[in-house]
Amino acid sequence: MADATSVQADPAPTDVPPSGPDARADSLAAWDREHVWHAFTQMQEYEPLLIDRGTGCTLVDTAGRRYLDGSASMWCNVHGHAHPRLDAALFSQAGKVAHTTNLGLSNPTTIEFARRLVEVAPAGLEKVFFTGDGSSAVEAALKIAFQYWLQADPPREGRTKFVAIGEAYHGDTLGAVAVGGVDRFTSVFAPLTFEPIRLPSPGGACPSTGRPAPTLGESLALLERVLVTHVGQIAAMVMEPVMQAAAGIWIHPAGYLHGVRELTRRHGVLLILDEVAVGFGRTGTMFACERERVVPDFLCLAKGLTAGYLPMAATLTTAQVWNAFLGTYAERRTFFHGHTYGGNPLAAAVGLASLDIFRDERVLESLPPKIERLQFHLDRIAELPAVGAVRQCGLVAGIDLVADKTSRRAYQWQEQRGMKASLAARRHGAILRPLGDVVVLWPPLSITLDEIDRLCHAAEAGIRDATG
Ligand code: PMP
Repeated sequence: MADATSVQADPAPTDVPPSGPDARADSLAAWDREHVWHAFTQMQEYEPLLIDRGTGCTLVDTAGRRYLDGSASMWCNVHGHAHPRLDAALFSQAGKVAHTTNLGLSNPTTIEFARRLVEVAPAGLEKVFFTGDGSSAVEAALKIAFQYWLQADPPREGRTKFVAIGEAYHGDTLGAVAVGGVDRFTSVFAPLTFEPIRLPSPGGACPSTGRPAPTLGESLALLERVLVTHVGQIAAMVMEPVMQAAAGIWIHPAGYLHGVRELTRRHGVLLILDEVAVGFGRTGTMFACERERVVPDFLCLAKGLTAGYLPMAATLTTAQVWNAFLGTYAERRTFFHGHTYGGNPLAAAVGLASLDIFRDERVLESLPPKIERLQFHLDRIAELPAVGAVRQCGLVAGIDLVADKTSRRAYQWQEQRGMKASLAARRHGAILRPLGDVVVLWPPLSITLDEIDRLCHAAEAGIRDATG
């Protein structure tokens, strides 16, 4: 296994063709600062890093520097960059048609993709509503669930509320923001959104009160109380199953998801699972809900749906929900909602090829040794003086940076230690994206054991640099 010094010494991966620095790099950086408004970024402090190319788990910037993609390009990439089979599927579809609407029309590739998704999804989820990104997959689920009750037999107009979880993140469109619970992302928009019934996260201490995470029994008892108190008023409960990613890689106690499904079913409440981040192998199974043998009423997918290649999302649901929307046009049961690029054939072609790779290259079967190797490194990283805790779920890890290891006292948030550690890790050969003071390791599933060693050593070196 590599030691810490091998990070810098490692030769450049041989699978990335060498190329000289881009002569326009300085101008591009200036134009980037001037014109491109970057997401979740304070533009006054923004320092450009321009990624020119990628192969496998390696990204190459315009100066020719190579980095491991330690955030899977925002939790998306699954099989590596420039995968020959994904590229071929994309080019082949582009030669037929790049885009045609799914508003009342269809195309063979999208149909085939929907059919394959239904095959791999938990049994019973057999209807696929395509959208363009994770937020809109959640948005569609919320709206379908709401309209479902108006058209159910018999209709239940009173079911208008949603249950959501503390520190949840479901995206940035207004419906998704309403059910989101990360205060710094949502509070400014509160006047524009609806109020869900909020349960404390079962996976972490409440950031505003410091109250520790409830036990499994307490969490389920709280949910049951809500379901009993609001009988006949709740349309659906929405949650990220098994792990809340943007909260800071917060892992739910085993049995929580199963308990939620039991209770929601008993009380006739629909369950929306947001697997935008955790779907497609991230936690070790194809879908996180499989870990507790749970079938939701809605499964929201994005990111890994196209192996991180193209924007596409899908909301899967049941025949029971779909049937409530059937009728003549005049009966007004139609779901009047859609996105221009929903079901885009280029994205569908890549999504299909990705499912083929999962099957042919036995991707899920390849994960246990990688998960174990990540754990090996985390055990060491946990000992660092500035690390308060580490959490791992499948091939993702969160490393809490703290000012004081014994008391677990946090750094002042303005110090941005997580960001500093992640930026420092770039000098050691890895691109990371933190969540506050949580350093996150989220590599493509195709990462090799050797690359895991290098990634973890780069993270460790970055943490040491940023925490003195
Ligand atoms: N849900 C979850 C759980 C997510 O992690 C994200 C994005 N990180 C979203 C929804 C929103 O997805 P998008 O950014 O594609 O809209």
